Amino acid sequence: VCPVGALYEKDYTWDLIREIAKKDKRIVAQIAPAVRVAIGEEFGFEPGEDITGELITALKKLGFTDVFDTNFAADLTVIEESHEIEERVKKYLNGDKKVKLPVLTSCCPAWVTFLENNYSEDYLENISTAKSPQQMFGAVVKNIWGPIRGISREKIVSVSIMPCLAKKLEGKISNFSEKGNYDVDYTLTTRELARLLKQSNIDLKTLQKGEFDKPLGESSGASDIFGKTGGVTEAVIRDLYENLTGEVLENVDFKSVRGLDEIRIASLNINNQNIRVGIVHGLGAARKVLERLRENQEELHVLEVMACKGGCVGGGGQPYHHGDFDKIRKRAHGLEKIDENKSIRKSKDNPQIISLYEKYLGKPGSNDAHKLLHREYKYKK
Ligand code: SF4
Repeated sequence: VCPVGALYEKDYTWDLIREIAKKDKRIVAQIAPAVRVAIGEEFGFEPGEDITGELITALKKLGFTDVFDTNFAADLTVIEESHEIEERVKKYLNGDKKVKLPVLTSCCPAWVTFLENNYSEDYLENISTAKSPQQMFGAVVKNIWGPIRGISREKIVSVSIMPCLAKKLEGKISNFSEKGNYDVDYTLTTRELARLLKQSNIDLKTLQKGEFDKPLGESSGASDIFGKTGGVTEAVIRDLYENLTGEVLENVDFKSVRGLDEIRIASLNINNQNIRVGIVHGLGAARKVLERLRENQEELHVLEVMACKGGCVGGGGQPYHHGDFDKIRKRAHGLEKIDENKSIRKSKDNPQIISLYEKYLGKPGSNDAHKLLHREYKYKK
C-alpha cells in the first residue's frame, strides 16, 4: 500500500490458519454481499457472476465449521435503521423541528470515521446508531447463536470476509468486544481470501455449489443490494414504505435511487408526504452534500454515503478494478440479479429475522435491540 512500507494492510490470514489448525474452536464465517460477485474474477469468472455456492464450498474446504451470510445481518440493519428513520421522520412531519435530519447511514466505517473527524459538531447526532451488518452479525454470533448452542465466546472464532479495508479497523473498535474478546476476530478482504484459496490449491471453477448453514444464512434480496451504491436506501425504503403506510408494497424496485452518478437525489411520495433521499458515493461528493446541507441549500430526510466508488462492489479489498467502471457496473448488476431472483425481497419478511425478534429482541428499536445492535460515536473537535 505504502511505497516506503510505513503503512500496510493488516493481514489476518496467518492468524486464521493457526486457529483452524488447532481444531478446538468453531470457525465461523460471514460473507459480505459484494464479495460473491467479485472474487470469481480471480478464478476466471466474469465480473458480476454470482459464485456464492462455490465460495461456501471453498470455505468449508479451508476448515470453516460454519459458513453464514452477512446478508442475514444486513436485513437486521435495514430493520433497525428503518425504525430509526421512521421515528425521526414522523416527529419531523408532526412539527418537531429539533429532530436531527437527514438521518445519515452508518454501515460504511470509512464514512463514519470521516464524519467523526470532520463534521462531529454539525452532524454526529444525525448518524444512525445502527451497527454495520458486519458488527451486527458478530454480536448475534457471539451473544445469541453461541450461547444457545452452549458455545462460549472464547470458543468461537468469528471471521468476516469483506470487500473492505476499513472493516478491519471497525472490527477492532473496543466497544465491539467483551473483555478483549471481539465480536469479529478477523477480517479478511476478498483479495486475501482469493490468495489463501490459491495457496491452498482450491480453484473456485472446479467446485460444486454449497449452501449457507442455517439459521444465519437466510436473507432477503434487500440485503444483497447493500453491496452497491443506493442499495441501503432501496432496502430501507421497502420496509419504511410498509411501516408508514400499513400497505403491502407490490413493486419493490425503486429505480429512482439506482445508478452510478456520484450524487443522486430522489423524492418519494409516501402517505402523501414528500420524503427526500440523497445517495452519495465517494467522500469528496459526501463533503459537497454536507456543505450544501449546512448552507441550507438542500433539504433531505435520509442520506446514504458509501466511501468507495460504486459502493462496496468497488471496495478497497476487492480484486483491483484499476478504475474500470464497467467492472463495477457489472458487479452491481450481479447483485441486482440476485435480489430479483430471491423469493423474499424485503428484510422484514426474512423468517429467521422474525424469529430472532420474537425470541430474543422483542421489537425493532427495543432496549434489547439497542444493547446488542446499536453503537455510539466519538465526538472529535
Ligand atoms: Fe468499506 Fe468501501 Fe464498502 Fe465503505 S464503501 S464499507 S469503505 S468497501
